[in-house]
Amino acid sequence: MKRARQDHPRRYFIETWGCQMNAHDSEKLAGSLERQGYVPAASAEDADVILLNTCSIREKAVEKVFSEVGRLRPVKGRRPGTILGVCGCVAQQEGEKIYRRAPEVDLVVGPRATASIPEMIARIDGGDPTARHAVDTEYRDDSIRFPFDAIRREGLHTRKAFVTVIEGCNHRCTFCVVPNTRGREVCREMDEILDEIRSLTSQGVCEVEFLGQTVNAYRDSQRRNLADLLEATAGVDGVRRIRFTTSHPAQMTDRLMDAMASARPQVCPYLHLPAQSGSSTVLRAMRRGYDREGYLAKVEGLRSRIPEISLGTDMIVGFPGESDGDFEETIALLDEVEFDTVYSFVYSARPETTALDLDDPTPAAVKQERLARLQAHQRALQERRNRRWIGREVEVLVEGPSKRGEGKWTGRTPEYRIVNFRGPSAPGRMETLRIVDSGPFSLRGELTRGLS
Ligand code: SAM
Repeated sequence: MKRARQDHPRRYFIETWGCQMNAHDSEKLAGSLERQGYVPAASAEDADVILLNTCSIREKAVEKVFSEVGRLRPVKGRRPGTILGVCGCVAQQEGEKIYRRAPEVDLVVGPRATASIPEMIARIDGGDPTARHAVDTEYRDDSIRFPFDAIRREGLHTRKAFVTVIEGCNHRCTFCVVPNTRGREVCREMDEILDEIRSLTSQGVCEVEFLGQTVNAYRDSQRRNLADLLEATAGVDGVRRIRFTTSHPAQMTDRLMDAMASARPQVCPYLHLPAQSGSSTVLRAMRRGYDREGYLAKVEGLRSRIPEISLGTDMIVGFPGESDGDFEETIALLDEVEFDTVYSFVYSARPETTALDLDDPTPAAVKQERLARLQAHQRALQERRNRRWIGREVEVLVEGPSKRGEGKWTGRTPEYRIVNFRGPSAPGRMETLRIVDSGPFSLRGELTRGLS
């Protein structure tokens, strides 16, 4: 059955789960819809097309998607013409199964096939009975060209933009679904990336963050790598800050570390370098391609070149077979490296990953205790580390009002420290602040001079 024509432009709403990559995928999705004449809706309840852009890195994320589909069921009940789509990694991983569990979903589209969404919706509108409940999970290599048309409303407001440089992942970490959901690596051409950056700076953007599941595996058809890209980007007029995420320790080369040091101050002195564990035994079982000593050597390489660098990491506790001794090595690594930020997770068994075959005798309660201990340990460490900022002058790029309200603003230093402060300001401003107080997760500053 064909759908009736509407008297207003089609409105879309995208809900996003997961990391920066998913946030940027949603910006690209918005671009593809707006090119077709769609306009953003204020909420899912007001939208003609609702897209859930999902993450499947841990089990809870999948459950959250199904519970959100349930929450949206009455919206579809009230407005039967509403189209509900599941996109992103859960779509790729679950495919047809989503319809069996949630028949109210109309389309399922994987992360490398999102460009096909407007066409799929047009087919549903045209009454094509095969279009509703269609699945598109093809890995399209040209999906990497898509970001050029991303809609970056928030980013332009805050003068920060994500730029995808590489898609997919060629590693085979035994715990990780990413190679299954996002496919093998494809890279953009460096010249095209630089064109996009020039276009962004002409719109006021001053901070760019390069994105990729393994961003430091970037290499274009002329063999130009991330180090070349950092150096070239530092030379683009208007670029004041460059970040990149996520880096794999095994691909943290001397050449890249040299470029991080030489392309300063534009390249920020911050690196997110997921260790995953402090135990070489566990790292081997995870198939990470480095051991504890190898990881520490990368940290040493970075700190010898950039002494003030801030480091962030990810840690998984309760990986199958992780002993008390292995876990103690993870705690010891926190002390040895003194990370500034740690994202920590309990291991979550994921479909079609090889860690599923490993014995996992550790009770769930023990894993939760380990996580709580790691987080308390790191919190105390961060509290100490953040105190050394008191009295220093820092430059922050203002992101917006602080979550705590009270007329406060929040911004980030080049080292990725969050600083809250009071005073006249606005998103996208660079402010100079003196740090007057600190906590485990943020700093408090005062403006040293009025508006900049
Ligand atoms: N590609 C990056 C890498 O391998 O370093 C990170 C990708 S993932 C989006 C972010 C983090 O989620 C990982 O660094 C890891 O700590 C965590 N993670 C991934 N798979 C997981 C699993 N099965 N269970 C628990 N945490 C997981």
